[in-house]
Amino acid sequence: MNYREPLFRPPGEADSLIFQVAYGCPHNTCSFCLMYKTVRYELRNLNDVKKEIEKAGRSYPETRRIFLADGDVMTLEYEYLCELLEHLNKNFANLARVNLYANGSSIIAKSAEQLAKLKELKLNTLYLGLETGDDDLLKLVRKKEAVDTMVEAAVLAQSCGLRCSVMVLLGLGGKEMTAMHSEKTAAALNRMQPRLLSFLRFIELPQTKMFERYESLTEYDAVKELYDIMERLDLKRTVIRANHSSNPVPLEGRLYQDKSRLLVEIASILKSPLLDKKGPGATPMWL
Ligand code: SF4
Repeated sequence: MNYREPLFRPPGEADSLIFQVAYGCPHNTCSFCLMYKTVRYELRNLNDVKKEIEKAGRSYPETRRIFLADGDVMTLEYEYLCELLEHLNKNFANLARVNLYANGSSIIAKSAEQLAKLKELKLNTLYLGLETGDDDLLKLVRKKEAVDTMVEAAVLAQSCGLRCSVMVLLGLGGKEMTAMHSEKTAAALNRMQPRLLSFLRFIELPQTKMFERYESLTEYDAVKELYDIMERLDLKRTVIRANHSSNPVPLEGRLYQDKSRLLVEIASILKSPLLDKKGPGATPMWL
């Protein structure tokens, strides 16, 4: 495959075949996100992508899972997405699911009928960065999405049979906003009822320094924030993961049934001497 770097995919897509249908992120405004800052957004010619699909179909005919890159692929025109998915179905006889990154506004720009048709064409999981349920914090970090839009999008997509994998950023609001971030994020998640939920930790770097007036969370504070959100969650059918390498301690479970166990585990981590109470802890190797 001929990729243009940088190429990102969620950890759960490690075994998927990736097609880059666009380069970069069509928004690229979020101050905490360095993923595509060096890339000028460009949608690829559909015929070029189709040729790549045909070639890969001959080389990897057993492919079952496909991930479409780069950022917010859901923003593409419905017709483009249909043609792309139809071509994937034609060239991969064993295709089971196609996943991509999506923003709330790009999901609700499609009608319920369109989303159901995309699902029929094997679109499956939409990775949606909620980041926080606090609109003030979203504005502060220049994410051009509103909480209500993201909630509406997740509810709509899931009512059409798609799965939403929602990401939350622990520590995004620093010490100043941690109480609001916890409370409003849990409330938004309870309205969304996502099928998958991942907690990642925001670790400030010089390039993402946005809180001159806010104090960053320590490693301990970030885990406490996770506890505060988890305590408020009322999710019926969600797989929860906090096992990204930015998390100091990996956690995984299902809500509602594992909520008490997860709270006990987080509480015991908070009581242990494992966490740095003065700073962010060891920097993950990928930063
Ligand atoms: S967080 Fe998502 S929408 Fe924001 S710049 Fe990064 S890829 Fe784009």
